[in-house]
Amino acid sequence: MSRIYNFSAGPAMLPLEVLEQAANEMVDYSGSGMSVLEMSHRSKPFEAIINQAESLLREIMNIPANYKVLFLQGGASSQFSMIPLNLFGKVRKADYILTGEWAKKAIQEAKRYGEINIVASSKDKNFNYIPPIDKSNFDSEAAYFHITTNNTIYGTVMRDVPETGDVPVVADMSSNILSEEIDVKKFGLIYAGAQKNIGPAGVTIVIIRDDLIGNALEITPTMFNYQTHVETNSLYNTPPTYAIYIAKLVFEWIKNKGGVKSIAKINNEKAKMLYGAIETSSLFKLTVPNPAHRSIMNIPFVLPEKDLEEKFIKEAAACGLTTLRGHRSVGGMRASIYNAMPMEGIKALVEFINEFDKNNK
Ligand SMILES: *Cc1c(COP(=O)(O)O)cnc(C)c1O
Repeated sequence: MSRIYNFSAGPAMLPLEVLEQAANEMVDYSGSGMSVLEMSHRSKPFEAIINQAESLLREIMNIPANYKVLFLQGGASSQFSMIPLNLFGKVRKADYILTGEWAKKAIQEAKRYGEINIVASSKDKNFNYIPPIDKSNFDSEAAYFHITTNNTIYGTVMRDVPETGDVPVVADMSSNILSEEIDVKKFGLIYAGAQKNIGPAGVTIVIIRDDLIGNALEITPTMFNYQTHVETNSLYNTPPTYAIYIAKLVFEWIKNKGGVKSIAKINNEKAKMLYGAIETSSLFKLTVPNPAHRSIMNIPFVLPEKDLEEKFIKEAAACGLTTLRGHRSVGGMRASIYNAMPMEGIKALVEFINEFDKNNK
């Protein structure tokens, strides 16, 4: 078997142990005589899978009892619409922070249904920093306050949750959920597409506080109403069964590794090594100037010339270090190093960077 180190921003690497377990169980899941892929979502074994997935996530994220956990479809991008449709209520106003491409898309969708106040933006510098937040820009009547905790494309992270009083904070955590410990109580709603740190594409996790359910706008489609999925335990229609099963295996994997706290320690070590290699090199440059704003999940970096970047990407791929091309809006390279990227992958990339630096001066 030959596995490469895949630095894709998403869909991204999954833990090898999870893939191997899934392979072992592929044809006959737990003596059921069938694959999870073939199983009714209303069957006993699948009900056990989705229930275990939920209780494991509750355990590893320490989710309080007054929050519901939903397994939905449509990606994080559908949440850009579901959030305003469900949370706007009568005021139809919300505060957003504009920190990147995904925040921009979230704002665009929300604008269809109401008035959006952009509290702060880092657009002036191509989103390479987290903007300071001035409370005087908050709308006290806002139905919610939306943030993106990790900006996948630009490699910035926002660790401080704004103090918004009674206004619930809604967070897109697609690219850093389960990477570090967070206090769920600080949020009204957390959402994440699975394909970065949870599992395969196809399932989207929503963690929502009880009091925010049941006030959807009249026009909200049934499938876009959180209440629909709360009342049916995410089984209103056929959910993405296999993606939920893999997510369950990933949650087990995290638990067996000692939980999010242990994973976070490793993630910080991984990021420190990679940032260190880039910073001490003579050729490579980071695109996020402020160390406090640097993501430990997505690390963009550049070389002085485009030709050299092409050479780097090509030679790295030949060494089994793939999908390192940066997003078109930043250019250069980006290494996405989610939970499932092993330390060995970081070491291999660091070694490659050091060699490339020496050989191309
Ligand atoms: C990937 C990503 C999205 C989009 O997710 P989809 O599941 O493809 O809709 C949204 N927000 C962030 C922060 C992301 O990283």
